[in-house]
Amino acid sequence: MGNAKPKKKLAVVTCMDARLVNFLSEKLGIKRGDAKVIKNAGNIVTDDVIRSLVVAIYCLGIEKILVVGHTDCGMKYIDVEDIKKKMIERGANPYFVTNLKCWLGKIDDEEKNVIEGVNIIKNHPAIPKDVSVEGYIIDVETGELKKLC
Ligand SMILES: [Zn+2]
Repeated sequence: MGNAKPKKKLAVVTCMDARLVNFLSEKLGIKRGDAKVIKNAGNIVTDDVIRSLVVAIYCLGIEKILVVGHTDCGMKYIDVEDIKKKMIERGANPYFVTNLKCWLGKIDDEEKNVIEGVNIIKNHPAIPKDVSVEGYIIDVETGELKKLC
């Protein structure tokens, strides 16, 4: 994995929001080969995000992690009952998990969600204490980055 090591020793955990494509990397000044970017709906720090971070830290030399949320995140507005209804209408089974709402990870507040994510990473037993973890929120309209923690 020689050339897969990110030049900036940086991992970014962010949202899959289409408005962030190219926009966030430009604001953070990261180019191809600079950083690991882990994305999901709502930049929620799940077990799978921790898994990717563990690989990034121990195999790829990551020393710094940024959790970057954004304003107007769609995960604040998801309607779990509506998703459930649509799943049933289309022949899918919303009861494959005991708590669909919890599984989907609806968020209440973008900033709080980032701070929670940073705390989960910092307190996770698989993450070493020498890795720095910071939380930011980006304004999807202006691109302004605000440090939260
Ligand atoms: Zn989002």
